[in-house]
Amino acid sequence: MDYQDFFASALDRLKEERRYRVFADIERQAGRFPTAIWHSPKGSRDITVWCSNDYLGMGQNKGVMRAMVETAWRVGTGAGGTRNISGNSHPLVELEAELADLHGKEAGLVFTSGYVSNQTGIATIAKLIPNCLILSDALNHNSMIEGVRQSCCEKAIFRHNDLAHLEELLQAADERPKLIVFESIYSMDGDISPIHAICDLAERYNAMTYLDEVHAVGMYGPRGGGIAEREGAMHRIDVIEGTLGKAFGVMGGYITASRSVIDAVRSFAPGFIFTTALPPAVAAAATASVRHLKTSSDERAKQHYQVNRTKAALVNAGLPVLETSTHIVPIMVGDAEACKAASDRLLEQHGIYIQPINYPTVPRGTERLRITPTPFHSEAHIAALASALVEVWTTLKLPLDPKAAAA
Ligand code: PLP
Repeated sequence: MDYQDFFASALDRLKEERRYRVFADIERQAGRFPTAIWHSPKGSRDITVWCSNDYLGMGQNKGVMRAMVETAWRVGTGAGGTRNISGNSHPLVELEAELADLHGKEAGLVFTSGYVSNQTGIATIAKLIPNCLILSDALNHNSMIEGVRQSCCEKAIFRHNDLAHLEELLQAADERPKLIVFESIYSMDGDISPIHAICDLAERYNAMTYLDEVHAVGMYGPRGGGIAEREGAMHRIDVIEGTLGKAFGVMGGYITASRSVIDAVRSFAPGFIFTTALPPAVAAAATASVRHLKTSSDERAKQHYQVNRTKAALVNAGLPVLETSTHIVPIMVGDAEACKAASDRLLEQHGIYIQPINYPTVPRGTERLRITPTPFHSEAHIAALASALVEVWTTLKLPLDPKAAAA
């Protein structure tokens, strides 16, 4: 038996289905974002990044970088083990207090990523509720799906953002304990869930709520608490989950909730108990970022402004922009090969990096380029993006809106 053959043929299948992923070799440069260096097979060159989830450019914020470097010099690099072994590092204690305050909750708990916080957080919470039924939005992120799966609880999937379907499932569940898990911003279509209406249903049918705000924290709400903060709904949600790796520009994930829920997850969640804690320097950088965005709305205002400028420029150029009310700007392609070809040509010919989004991240036939304008994208960047996309669309014979393109 040749074990290597199994791996080679698995990769061949992926390539046949046009799902094989190639990662560009990119070196970010503090102080120059969204410019980065692409180490291409033909040598190194400057490129403009248009798809980073460092949505506000906080990864190069001087206060955030200083907090990370100074803490590393003061206390060293690693956490020294799991919290069971090493205790809580003081920067983590400060970060958790900051996050609880951000979401108006009694307590917070930090994990090594947003993925882990969903996976182990949902699984642990649902497992502790006897006979729990999990109601999960059909478009929830893989980390939430894995959390539901690992809980071993029964699940019911409601159609995406479909309140009538959710109510039908809640009704059918009768008196049974229920947990509704959903996101505030769905990251591929950039749409927003009806948080208040879901909370109304949760209250009517006595269900607990778990909200993923990964693509909203830092960017929405007066203090960056997310869509639930913007809509005055934070107090109605039982568990709010977020990441420190996107708009906060660092790394790590967290949940915030009542003291008893947090203490229970801390005490029972394998993905918390059995893994080395986030390094203190990373925690200190995250704290600096969260604190900064609680009081500064500059980055949010500039991001929203540049998002609107980008959307307008691309629509005016006749490009198939999916309409969203968020900072996520999908350009629809609808074919895996064309999507990859568009991404390659943008990078090679125009020095613009936007990775292709193909199945299984999005359904087949809805392949797209997902653009995320930041406060650091200038008018010149936007103009260059629009003309590069038009050149690529024309060369690859992808459809442009002729009316808009002629105007
Ligand atoms: N939740 C959602 C909705 C996400 O899109 C992602 C990652 O993209 C995560 C959770 C995981 O967060 P992290 O990147 O911090 O692991």
